[in-house]
This record gives sequence, C-alpha cells and structure tokens, in this order.
Amino acid sequence: MISRRQFIQSSASGVAIAVSAGSVCGAEPTPPRQPANAAGPDITTQVDILIVGGGTAGTIAALQAARIGAKTFVVERGSQLGGTTTTGGVAFPGLFDAWGKQIIAGIGWELVKECVELDGGTLPDFSSVPQRHWMHQIHVNQFLYPLLAEEKCREAGVGIAYYEFPQSVARKEDGWQVECAGFGTRRRVLCKQLIDCTGGAEVVGLLGLPRLREEERQPGSMLYQLSKAANPGREGLASLYVHGADSTNSRTVTEANLTGRREVLKRVRAEKKRLMQLQPEASFRESYRIQGEMVITVDDYTTGRVFDDAVCFAFYPVDLHTKSGVKPKPLAKGIVPTVPLGALVPKGSHNIMVAGRCVSSDRLANSGLRVQASCMAMGQAAGAAAALAAAKKTTPLNVPLSEIKDMLRKHGAIVPARHGNANTAVS
Ligand SMILES: Cc1cc2nc3c(=O)[nH]c(=O)nc-3n(C[C@H](O)[C@H](O)[C@H](O)COP(=O)(O)OP(=O)(O)OC[C@H]3O[C@@H](n4cnc5c(N)ncnc54)[C@H](O)[C@@H]3O)c2cc1C
Repeated sequence: MISRRQFIQSSASGVAIAVSAGSVCGAEPTPPRQPANAAGPDITTQVDILIVGGGTAGTIAALQAARIGAKTFVVERGSQLGGTTTTGGVAFPGLFDAWGKQIIAGIGWELVKECVELDGGTLPDFSSVPQRHWMHQIHVNQFLYPLLAEEKCREAGVGIAYYEFPQSVARKEDGWQVECAGFGTRRRVLCKQLIDCTGGAEVVGLLGLPRLREEERQPGSMLYQLSKAANPGREGLASLYVHGADSTNSRTVTEANLTGRREVLKRVRAEKKRLMQLQPEASFRESYRIQGEMVITVDDYTTGRVFDDAVCFAFYPVDLHTKSGVKPKPLAKGIVPTVPLGALVPKGSHNIMVAGRCVSSDRLANSGLRVQASCMAMGQAAGAAAALAAAKKTTPLNVPLSEIKDMLRKHGAIVPARHGNANTAVS
C-alpha cells in the first residue's frame, strides 16, 4: 500500500486577496486590489493524479486512485459530482449484471448500493435474468448520490475543484502541467498522471491526440417531469430528444440547453400541466471518442471478445438512438463484452488515460459501452492503473497487467480472467 498524503496546495496570493477583501468592511481604506495575478496562476496544486470531469466515471476513478494512496484531485466544470447520472438526471445506472450473475461490482456498485439502501429503495435480484434489459437498471436518488460521492471523496482524501476546467495542458518531464480556469480562480495543476473523464475526451483534444466523432450524433435528451412530483430513486423522468445535441464546447452545450428548454416549455403549454422538475442541463449520448491503443469494434462487443488486457466487463444491448427513436439490439445469450486497458489509453500517448463514454470504440460498440455501470468499471480500472503508474514513475501500459488486476480485485472489482469465453471469464 502506498502511503496516503494530503495533496499540497500553495496559495500565497490567494491568502493575500482574502485578507485585503476581508478588510473592505473595516474603517481603514484598503489599497486597490491588484488585477487578478497577471503574472501567474493564483493557485498551484501538486498531485499524483488529476481527473478532469467528476461525472459517472470520473468519481469512481478518483475514489479508486485515492484509496490506493495516490494524491488525487478532480477538476469538474459543473457544481456537483455524478455528471450525467446526477446533473443530467439519468439516475438509473445499468447494467451491473448479465445472464443471472453480477459482472460489475467494486466502487461504483458500492456507491450505487449505499445510495439505494440509504434511500430505502430496492435492488434487483441479479440471480434472475430480466425479460427486458432495463428492468435491472438501478434507480438511484439523483440528489442523494452526489452527497454520498462527496462524502466518499472526503474520506478518501480526494480534492475537488468545481466550476473549473483546463485551458491548456503541457507535457513536463515527470508528468503534466495543466492550466485551469474558474470564475475568480486560476489554477495550475502539476500531476504525474491525467485521467480524462469529460465524456467527450476534451483533454485528449487539448493535447491534439486523435479522436473520433460522427458527422451526425445520436440525439441528447432533456429530462423533466410534468404534472406529478418527481419520485427520485423510484422512477425515471420524462425525456425529450434534443436532436443535434453536442457536448463539444460551451457554445454547443448552450445551444442544446436552449433547444431542450424551449421544447419543454412547448409541452407545458400543449399539455396544460405544471412543470414539476427540469434538469439543469441537457444530457448527451455521443460526442468524441478517443482513438486508443485498441479500438473495440461492434464485432468484439457482440461476440463478447475477451481481450488479453481486459480490465472489466460491460453489458447492454447495442443501443443507437436516431431521429426516429431507438431499437435496442440485445446481446446473444451468454455474451458479456469486455473492455481492454488499451481502449482507455489514447494511441501513442504516455501518462494519460480516459474512462467513460469516450472509450476507444466504433460507434455501434460505443452505443452499448457508454452505459453507467460500464463507465464506472472503466473509471475504477483507469484509477487503479494511473495510481500504480504514478507510484512506479511509469506510464499505465508499462504497469504489469497482473498488478492492475490484483489491485482492482482487492478493491472489490470483478475482473475478466485472461483466457476463456464470456461465460467463463468472470473470476
Ligand atoms: C438521455 C440518456 C439516457 C441514458 N440512459 C441510460 C440508462 O438507462 N442507463 C445507463 O446506465 N446509461 C444511460 N445513458 C448513458 C450514460 O448515462 C452516459 O453515457 C454516462 O453517464 C457517461 O458517463 P461519463 O463519465 O463518460 O460522462 P458524464 O457522466 O457526462 O461525466 C462527464 C463530466 O465531465 C464534466 N466535464 C466535461 N467537460 C469538462 C471540462 N472540460 N472540464 C471539467 N469538467 C468537464 C461534466 O460536467 C461531467 O460532470 C444515457 C444517456 C443519456 C444522455
């Protein structure tokens, strides 16, 4: 076990500003405040692992890295953890089971299970095979989930910066220098390993590493509830498609939010019902994926290929939403796809990984891989690989795979066995 230390944060100029701001209320006139540090960043944060995006995958990656003992920091542009699970309102993660047994556990499952239990909900019986896949999605309380996630981060020593995002990333001899911005904050993060959990591989994009994106993306959705009060943790919200939704940048996200809200307003007027809940943001199904050391194809996915470097399972129908809706294509009986470590590593890169829906995969494979239980499992795998790499002063692909797998198992994850077909791969 690597010893756990608090992350170091030096904030000399931040302290000075706080003192002078504090004296504004006093009788003494204060010297005019300096313009916000034109010469350099306000804060320097030095950590082992920086996770950009504290969403579905990023939260789990952070917890795993910190629990191994790495100094871990999350930069999240929003106001809470959970991403699409919470802010997007898609609070029904799946799928943790396949064909009568649990295939994803570990830290994501711990969080989901605790959330349901604290909320007095019920969990599905994984020893049964449901008639329809969505019957085993877990309804979590979207308000409770981020509170529990924050508590677990606090206990694990994960640092969190909300309302911040990276503006530039530069390679350093022993890692990365990431310049982040927030309102009233400029932060320089020095880290050994980066994990991009932004959903759209935004850090990978900043680095100019190859990414894949379709000309036409699946629609996003705006989740809302008319007439009756929302019942978080028990049932999902209504949703409407936001065609053309694109999470690439603040302009496209603004456009998706404006479009989604306009459509909800139309429905309120048309149905003459009270608006009882509206998520603060649209949620996005598809944007950039990385081109990784390994690209998971739909053939790999639908045949349940067990990759030599498989670090977790995934399970969901091929689920491509189009203008006319979605017709999920269930996987054949017994098939359980796997995710290789190589699909979490941008091609030709060092010291950077991704986790979540931007996993390296073709479009159809991605339409199944993108679901939350799989994103959480990928997050845990990336967190473990990055923490071990930071401790060994190497890049994740140079960490012996057996060490990553052992570490994941130690932290409760279910890891595919090296050989065997999908039915025998659970170890
Ligand atoms: C409408 C809809 C229905 C779905 N239905 C299901 C379902 O039934 N079951 C299921 O399991 N899955 C479902 N999914 C899929 C699933 O919810 C997502 O694919 C998954 O949550 C993505 O996880 P992620 O960690 O990759 O991204 P997210 O959870 O979106 O997290 C990304 C995080 O990164 C942050 N971020 C982005 N850019 C930056 C930046 N530059 N700097 C800092 N922070 C940044 C975001 O604010 C966010 O918090 C659905 C998705 C949608 C949109």
